[in-house]
Amino acid sequence: MADLQLDDVTKVFTERDGNEITAVDDVSLTIEDGEFLVLVGPSGCGKSTTLRMVAGLESISSGQIRLGDTVVNEMKPKERDIAMVFQSYALYPHMTVRENMSFGLEESTDMPATQITETVESAAEMLGIGDLLERKPDDLSGGQQQRVALGRAIVRDPEVFLLDEPLSNLDAKLRAQMRTELQRLQEDLDVATIYVTHDQTEAMTMADKIAILNDGELQQVGTPLECYHEPANLFVASFIGEPSMNFFDARRDGTQLVTDQFRYDLADETVAALGEHDDLVLGVRPEDIELRSTGSDEHSYETTVDVVEPMGNENNVYLTFGDKHAESFVATIDGMNRVEAGQSVVAHIPEEAIHLFDRSSGRALR
Ligand code: ATP
Repeated sequence: MADLQLDDVTKVFTERDGNEITAVDDVSLTIEDGEFLVLVGPSGCGKSTTLRMVAGLESISSGQIRLGDTVVNEMKPKERDIAMVFQSYALYPHMTVRENMSFGLEESTDMPATQITETVESAAEMLGIGDLLERKPDDLSGGQQQRVALGRAIVRDPEVFLLDEPLSNLDAKLRAQMRTELQRLQEDLDVATIYVTHDQTEAMTMADKIAILNDGELQQVGTPLECYHEPANLFVASFIGEPSMNFFDARRDGTQLVTDQFRYDLADETVAALGEHDDLVLGVRPEDIELRSTGSDEHSYETTVDVVEPMGNENNVYLTFGDKHAESFVATIDGMNRVEAGQSVVAHIPEEAIHLFDRSSGRALR
């Protein structure tokens, strides 16, 4: 078993008119043996291209991809010992589940037939599709088809497992169920895995480590909690978390931040962390804002409830400073805590919860 390493990997596509698109820009990443890395980012940020380069389905413009000590840049997909599962399951419709799962082994290995049967049956058992082996794909549900696609990859016993949005064709309930199943499966298989998604919930719940891409550039690599609590920049801060972090443009005035809506006193150590930066963005997560019925202590502001979005266990409360039509920000509170549109509430923004970013570079300052 081996680590997978990407060193300064870049992919430039040249369009027909000669225009160049840098789809992946100087990405360096290590996925350790047994690690589950989720590659996440908005549509078009370069996730699939990255995965396709690792699989050998796309050439690399510059940089190096290594599996253990072997540079795989020039190796054909078949030679790489990497299995990939796509968003569209790409099962052969005329073949049974058993044939779909054994086909790759028959084609590309010299495994004896009895061993192929054993391998396929044990993978099918592992995936809970042992009783579906003689069926054709058309007679299976979406979730069952997805399991067959996974099974086809597992039987090859790869060094690296690549999954490209494998759950996006499933309904929400099945997706949640398959998320846990996939995690369990990856733990059992214990291989380096890259899982691509644009869904930050999948990233947060499944990953050992998240790599966040935007415009082909890696923004941050860390555990889900690191990316959530210590976002490296504005992009990561806005991408991770639901509802999104609230942002207020802010200017520093001595030891205060001044936004269009409020002034915010800063402790000495926060001022020190800002250095020379005074054109800032103040960020605060909805769940870090406390709502109180009254109070005028530090970091507390009079607001009006604009809209309440009940989520069951939580309420998302959209608030404005004064004017009803002013831009709102959102606080998430316990679902049992009732507030109503039009009501006046005091929003408390604790200093330990605030994030500060340099406005021009977007870089986190604290
Ligand atoms: P999605 O989540 O929508 O699948 P993605 O993050 O996987 O997006 P990629 O498919 O890797 O993004 O695409 C990255 C960029 O490269 C996009 O701007 C895309 O248009 C461009 N691109 C991808 N493949 C090609 C190609 N064969 N020729 C030219 N440009 C391409």
